[in-house]
Amino acid sequence: MPTMSKVHNVIIVGSGPAGLTAAIYAARANLKPLCIEGFQMGGIPGGQLMITTTVENYPGFEEGITGPDLMAKWRAQAGRFGTEFITADVDQVDFSKRPFEVRADDEIHRANAIIIATGAKAKWLGLHSEHELENHGVSACATCDGYFFRDQDVCVVGGGDTAMEEALYLAGLCKSVTLIHRRKEFRASRIMIDRAEKHPKIKMVLDSAVTEVLDVSQKKVTGVRVKNLLTNEESVIACTGLFIAIGHEPNTQLFKGLMETDELGYLKTVPGSTRTSMEGVWACGDVQDHVYRQAVTAAGTGCMAAMEVERWLGAQGLHG
Ligand code: NDP
Repeated sequence: MPTMSKVHNVIIVGSGPAGLTAAIYAARANLKPLCIEGFQMGGIPGGQLMITTTVENYPGFEEGITGPDLMAKWRAQAGRFGTEFITADVDQVDFSKRPFEVRADDEIHRANAIIIATGAKAKWLGLHSEHELENHGVSACATCDGYFFRDQDVCVVGGGDTAMEEALYLAGLCKSVTLIHRRKEFRASRIMIDRAEKHPKIKMVLDSAVTEVLDVSQKKVTGVRVKNLLTNEESVIACTGLFIAIGHEPNTQLFKGLMETDELGYLKTVPGSTRTSMEGVWACGDVQDHVYRQAVTAAGTGCMAAMEVERWLGAQGLHG
């Protein structure tokens, strides 16, 4: 039988920029929040910034700061005001009951309000060989795994800012980087494209798709089979590492069918607010935002969620 907790004012699920900002604001409003920090990103709590090198665009850090350092500061700040942390993946929620129930590690945590800040995770191409060779040369995080490929030839797939960023990062470590993109036009920002195009170690292969990662039989990456989508011609690019950088999907599996989502699966929130379609449940950060996806915007919506929860609990007479 799972054990049952006391009833918290608010449970925050997730500990990236959104979750921890919600925690800081909720804790300073004396809501004594419980933050359940999961292991979604590479087995470590803290969200996507834990697998990022330098963050140069978070305001207040003139010289930049590493993602893990920024998250450590953020967590300490939330803890300083009395946030309670539990490090466990939530495996089930019951939002049909009041108080709400959130289960993690065979323990049921109860709360009058919920803030969902579970973020998003990297997308994969969906190839069998890609899956078979994951962690054997196929990765979705250059910052985490690039070091293993120093002085080697690697490929990156994608045409957005993430792909450019990963290609540039890898170019600092590797012998060569081939960026493979399915179109001629990029989705990335001009400055990132310029940097990648000018880099002597980065080569672009455009209008092309990876159809197979070689070589599953050797259990290591020796190359990628690439199809030119205009001519249908296939070729093999020799490499020892393949980095997939084709975007993200929201971590909403736990909440499927419980509240409204958009066509991409992101939780829908009322415009100008972080309120979901379920009374008493708020969502902030990348789990509800596929447009901006920045630490600073995630933090902003985390702040909004905590303020809205505080007002709602007060109006309901539930502020404990
Ligand atoms: P995006 O959605 O912007 O780009 C994804 C890219 O992957 C697109 O070029 C897309 O191709 C391609 N792609 C998607 N699915 C497939 C597939 N199945 N096969 C092959 N290619 C595929 O995601 P990002 O992660 O790059 O960026 C997300 C957001 O984060 C953006 O807003 C970006 O600006 C921001 N960001 C900002 C950074 C910075 O400022 N330093 C760094 C990283 C991200 P197509 O174009 O054909 O659809």
